[in-house]
Amino acid sequence: MIALCTSPRFADHPTGPHHPERPDRIRAIFKAVRDAGLVDSPNPFPDFSFNFGLHPLGLPKLLEITPTPADPKWIQTVHPIDMIQRIERICRHGGGVLDQGDTPVGPDSYDIALLAVGAAIRSADAVMQGQARRAFAAIRPPGHHAEPNRPMGFCLFNNIAITARYLQQAYGIDKIAIVDFDVHHGNGTQAVFDNDPDVLFISLHQNPRTCYPGSGHDWEIGHAQARGYTINIPFDPGAEDVDYLRVMDNRVVPELEEFRPQVLLISAGFDAHRDDPLADINLSDDGFEQITRALVAVADRYCEGRIISLLEGGYHLRALGRGVVRHLVGLSA
Ligand SMILES: [Zn+2]
Repeated sequence: MIALCTSPRFADHPTGPHHPERPDRIRAIFKAVRDAGLVDSPNPFPDFSFNFGLHPLGLPKLLEITPTPADPKWIQTVHPIDMIQRIERICRHGGGVLDQGDTPVGPDSYDIALLAVGAAIRSADAVMQGQARRAFAAIRPPGHHAEPNRPMGFCLFNNIAITARYLQQAYGIDKIAIVDFDVHHGNGTQAVFDNDPDVLFISLHQNPRTCYPGSGHDWEIGHAQARGYTINIPFDPGAEDVDYLRVMDNRVVPELEEFRPQVLLISAGFDAHRDDPLADINLSDDGFEQITRALVAVADRYCEGRIISLLEGGYHLRALGRGVVRHLVGLSA
């Protein structure tokens, strides 16, 4: 059983009329998973019409689970209380802009960010308690750019890092791997686990010399006792499915096999798609399914199949909706 954790509330984090990380991203995912016949429940956004070119796939239905807001104590496993309170204060006063302009928030954004972490935690619970073998949380705001001390790059709280801390503290999991295939480097996640050899962080992204946020060079490998537990794999603009899949086979899978995680987390961004407006990597819809299948095979061997995947970026609505569907198909394998 594969779980899908999401909420129409994730459309209530406003970012302004021209921002790529916009509420329609969630509406697109609600529509696409229904067009693909992956869920039964009615669409809470019946007015969102968009042709994804998808048809029912005939796969088993996903287990639909709903999130509740996270207890801020879990946010504090990664972010200091004063940063959390600063974000809450700005939102409660009507909203504003965090992090030099690219991370706008509205009055409800703090609550929605807590709900995003809550969805990640709910997904972790579903997998750890055996309700589902794997789970995908379709959430916003995304998280992987948020550093311990600052929101950044559309991200308020680092959802995936908090999930790893939650698994460590609530379930006593010793070894966790995070694979981040968002086209941008997961700088926030790297910063959280830079000194933690219990968490293997592997990020695949566009070469930082040509892409935001400018970090994620292959020489960034972690510090002190955690040297070697951060792995950055940059791709030059124009890279395609075949390039990613070769790296999955030759590098990512062997590193995971050597580390032997107990749970595999995925920062699933869909902005490495060839149609995405924010970057220059040329993955196809199928590329996302194949990358996911490679990770599923590892999880089945070492993690009792356990994968918790969280949405990060993906800004072309058609590519995002179709990419999420193919990711879910891969997780269902
Ligand atoms: Zn991204």
